[in-house]
Amino acid sequence: MAKRLGIIGGGQLGMMITEAAKNLSEYISEIIVLDPTENCPAAQAGAKQIVGDFKDELAILKLAEQSDIITYEIESGNTDVLSKLKAKIEPSPYTLGIIQDKFSQKTFLSENELPVSQFYEITSLDVLHEKIKELGLPVLLKSRRDAYDGRGNFKITSSDEIEKAYQHFNGKSLMVEKFVNFKMEVSVIAARNTKGDIATYPLVENIHENNILKMTIAPARVSNDVIKDAGEIARKTMEVLKGAGVFGIEMFITQDNEILINEIAPRVHNSGHHTLQSCKTSQFEQHLRAILGLELGSTELVHKTVMCNILGPDGFTGKYKPVQLEKDGVYLKMYGKNISKLQRKLGHFNIVDLSDSEDIEQLLEIANEIKNSILVTPLD
Ligand code: AMP
Repeated sequence: MAKRLGIIGGGQLGMMITEAAKNLSEYISEIIVLDPTENCPAAQAGAKQIVGDFKDELAILKLAEQSDIITYEIESGNTDVLSKLKAKIEPSPYTLGIIQDKFSQKTFLSENELPVSQFYEITSLDVLHEKIKELGLPVLLKSRRDAYDGRGNFKITSSDEIEKAYQHFNGKSLMVEKFVNFKMEVSVIAARNTKGDIATYPLVENIHENNILKMTIAPARVSNDVIKDAGEIARKTMEVLKGAGVFGIEMFITQDNEILINEIAPRVHNSGHHTLQSCKTSQFEQHLRAILGLELGSTELVHKTVMCNILGPDGFTGKYKPVQLEKDGVYLKMYGKNISKLQRKLGHFNIVDLSDSEDIEQLLEIANEIKNSILVTPLD
């Protein structure tokens, strides 16, 4: 029988999950989204919306009353409330609880012998001094919770910054991590369905600026050995983590080609947007297949693809002119957000090698040309 799908968070990820859900109408009868912004992107894609905060217990209960299965596009959901619900939650609140706290996530990974950079819990300024003595500088001091796109990170490069960094977090629970001088950031989008079947997408390369993802290159420009190692690490992560759904596993490749896991997102991931055109099954459809217990779709990369985010530019906050882009093999997706703000994710485009005749460097050249021609400018 078709199920009613509830989604916590109706931004661009919720929007693309909604679009995929509408194509699975045999299995999903209705889509309801909880989001604080009226007419959020997922509502624009056809989901029914409950306007409310992601952590608001009453709003979550209301969503649960109207849903048979609940998933989420953000990892900051209230696990205490979620674990009390009758509706099925995927990935489970247990898995979410491990991932939500960066320190418990890293502890879980290292206890399962998965590679991570050396890290410690920080409970006082003295402990921070002591751990920095051991790790050496630089280090990253990180907020354990509610931090994303690098917003909860402070890089400490000299000893006179230690106290300032500690005070910056104003009493939040913290961890410290050895700084990794990586040569590349990569990720694997992985799926696990409720029956325990696992599928991983090909390794992709991620280019960040100011801690925000700018570009994803599929496939990553690395050796076959690195591809194999990263794939094995992603698969093992999924085996131990257990939850159902799509996960984004972000990793560093060190100068010695060692792979370290940076972070896991228990949800569809920005570095998987290329799958909308490059793979047989998009990450959004795969996520739904996984949580509904359907057979997972093929993760084969059919076309080399470069994905670029369209971010709110510096210089203005407010309404912007419609962004347009028409070019063969280029797929623009805007998220229906009315207001541009600095670094806000407004949309993305995929440049797809449909004819299988171009190499990645050519796709990158096209990407850079388009990036320079796409303008987010104020609406007069
Ligand atoms: P996070 O929000 O913790 O995933 O971090 C955001 C970005 O900070 C990552 O994409 C990396 O570019 C950088 N970063 C995080 N942890 C480390 C680390 N231990 N060493 C070097 N860079 C890091």
